[in-house]
Amino acid sequence: MASNSNPKLRLYNSLGRSLEEFEPFVPGRVRLYSCGLTVYNYAHIGNLRAYLFADTLRRILQWKGYDVFHVINITDVGHLTSDADEGDDKVEAAARSTGRTVWDITRYYTEDFKQSLARLNVQEPALWPKATEHIQEMIAFARDLQAAGYTYELPDGLYFDTSKVSDYGKLGLLDLEGQQEGARVDSKGDKRNGSDFAVWRRSPEDEQRLMEWDSPWGRGAPGWHLECSVMSLKYLGAPFDIHTGGVDHRQVHHCNEIAQNQGAARGGDGSVRFWMHNEFLLLEDLKMSKSTGEFIRLQTVEGWGIHPLVYRYFNLMAHYRSQLEFSASGLIAAKTGLQRLARRVQALRAEAGELPWGHLLADARFTRGGAYDYVITSLAEPLDNDARAVLTQLDEALSNDLNTAAALAAVSQAVNESSLSPDTVLRLVAIAELALGLRLLDLRPEELNLRPGSATLTDEEVTKLVEEREASRKDRNFERADAIRDQLTAAGVEIMDTRDGTPTAWSWNPAIPIGD
Ligand code: AMP
Ligand code: ZN
Repeated sequence: MASNSNPKLRLYNSLGRSLEEFEPFVPGRVRLYSCGLTVYNYAHIGNLRAYLFADTLRRILQWKGYDVFHVINITDVGHLTSDADEGDDKVEAAARSTGRTVWDITRYYTEDFKQSLARLNVQEPALWPKATEHIQEMIAFARDLQAAGYTYELPDGLYFDTSKVSDYGKLGLLDLEGQQEGARVDSKGDKRNGSDFAVWRRSPEDEQRLMEWDSPWGRGAPGWHLECSVMSLKYLGAPFDIHTGGVDHRQVHHCNEIAQNQGAARGGDGSVRFWMHNEFLLLEDLKMSKSTGEFIRLQTVEGWGIHPLVYRYFNLMAHYRSQLEFSASGLIAAKTGLQRLARRVQALRAEAGELPWGHLLADARFTRGGAYDYVITSLAEPLDNDARAVLTQLDEALSNDLNTAAALAAVSQAVNESSLSPDTVLRLVAIAELALGLRLLDLRPEELNLRPGSATLTDEEVTKLVEEREASRKDRNFERADAIRDQLTAAGVEIMDTRDGTPTAWSWNPAIPIGD
């Protein structure tokens, strides 16, 4: 009964710029590719937004009952300092400026990237293919393009002729006329069209590059766009279901992937059904950029006393297609929201006791029809109408192009709903958790109490002072008690006095050095 009335999943397809009902090519299975990090530096929190988005998409697909095969590549060669095929290779430039080897650099930043994703509770992809491990396949792909007449050679490499693809730039809504016009006044002027791009970059005669391979077009390195075409089609086949990336990729990188896929006839004229893009995380006055080195990492944010899951919550509070302003007030709101949920769930758990259904949830993710049908049909005790209403609200929000803000609101409301039993609320939280990935069932509120790196007291010192203040109050030494309170406040500690005689709780105020 439930499955017929479930809302269909609707996703915004950048190709065509509209909401479309999602159906995978193979029933029950979704093949998903996300452009990975260019590993010449740490991921900044803007980059991490792109992977939080991809993970949320994946979790919601799982919630809807799909098995998801997710691939995130690692870009360890080929991405130039400018997306317009100019400048140095980012990884080589980083190696030169630091004196480390390219392999050292990419290994180190890949590891750091994976650790950051794990701290954000992003699910591991099935595969992490690296560009440098697919060079021969890239050469084969470029040969196919050449054989089919889509390329031409210039002294510095093999180029893709975008005028050979009739609808080139459709994804980016590019004004091709304008681009080709632009090419004529381009001082570099060798490219046939302004939008043409390098498929293979030949190394200069007199220079040995740090990463280069032999090819039919001379020693050199693959173009960045070629890498993603090759790795996505190799592991997901053609056509596949969904390709994600930040909105900056919609204009160039992904248009070029589509052109290559068409040229090499790897997927007819539409190798990917849905192209989905997250909007940018913005920080006023700071154009976060890995290349200038001026950016904020997850570790930076943790150093302010903000837990990674609070950053995840902060992202879920916004829609992935809206620009998101990174602000102190937003982070504090996220911390308060998550802390409240965690405390409430802890209290409900104390009331409900054992959760005999806990192990069933692992199956829910993989049950056709998804989490929603699963609770409706497989629990011994049927859900009452109030609980069903919450589930419907959640499913409608998530199915509506991933409206995570509405889903969070529904969960926050449900945990305070007095008409629902603790056991029912916890089931609902557990089911919502499949889509939200906030570790809501086992997150201890104390975990969110991160000590800012700038704090002058240790956790133990704070606990001691709080105890001493309590003792002073008992002894009616209010002067001493107030003095301790002032000292703690100055040190960034917030004290929550309780009336019922339970020990005073305290927490660190995050120290966030950015504006509201
Ligand atoms: P890159 O390492 O430059 O290849 O970027 C990795 C991912 O981060 C890509 O999907 C980018 O589109 C995305 N990205 C870069 N900057 C931001 C930002 N400020 N906000 C959201 N996504 C971003
Ligand atoms: Zn890519």
